[in-house]
Amino acid sequence: MIRVAALGSGSSGNSLLVQADGTTLLVDCGFTMKETIARMFQLGVSPTDLDAVLISHEHGDHVKGVGPLSRKFGTDVWCTYGTYHRARDNRFSSVRLFHAHEPFVIGKITVDPFPMPHDAAEPCQFVFSVGNTRFANVTDLGACTPHVREKLEGVHGLVVECNYDNDMLRNGPYPPSLQARIRSDYGHLGNDQAGELLKDLDHTGLQRILLGHLSEQNNSDAQALATIEAHVSDRHDRIKVLAQHCCSEWFEVSAANVVAKQPQRLPDKEEALAAEV
Ligand SMILES: [Zn+2]
Ligand SMILES: [Zn+2]
Repeated sequence: MIRVAALGSGSSGNSLLVQADGTTLLVDCGFTMKETIARMFQLGVSPTDLDAVLISHEHGDHVKGVGPLSRKFGTDVWCTYGTYHRARDNRFSSVRLFHAHEPFVIGKITVDPFPMPHDAAEPCQFVFSVGNTRFANVTDLGACTPHVREKLEGVHGLVVECNYDNDMLRNGPYPPSLQARIRSDYGHLGNDQAGELLKDLDHTGLQRILLGHLSEQNNSDAQALATIEAHVSDRHDRIKVLAQHCCSEWFEVSAANVVAKQPQRLPDKEEALAAEV
């Protein structure tokens, strides 16, 4: 079983707790240290419980509190070489560099990183696994590449970016140059793109779909949900929007909850003969 909770998700700050078998990871730390600690406490987690902080890329909405948090509590920070060198404050108490194509293990959790098309130095996201249970975090990508799609096959839960609604972005306050950056293949994933991505996934074991990194200017919970639900026709109770200004509840996923598909019964001889006449 893996359980996750967002401290907050959106263009002003992102941070996600991932817990399994006594191991606790913080994925990104986009709030101030004070805010990060306050929100973790609301979820029953103390900074000293963290086995590591993983950083997806160096944008401020993902790294704001990581330096102070690491120095104060001696927390290991895991990131790619590019993220480490481009981060404004990288004086971490201990840094663990990883290659974006090579899985690694922290405590009981296996972390499988993969590169993302995004306008940062060496951005990546992660699939977390414990036993057969897998959970993915997929935000800050301009397009869904075949490699990303491959990584998401068979996950039991995921956070997927729903950054903007097409019409709201077009009619919103952002200048054309910024709109172009957001829409580009190295920008962010919009509601329609997230819907297309989800539509193509295998939903057999997919228990949780968490919509994250919503823009406060160019999207709304209702718009994101409506677009995603139009692409995913069944079991809308699996889908939740992550908020920017408060933490979410805990969400659990487990491979053990997946009901195996019944093997298709072959027609016996008599049925086959009857069908022929
Ligand atoms: Zn970013
Ligand atoms: Zn971001």
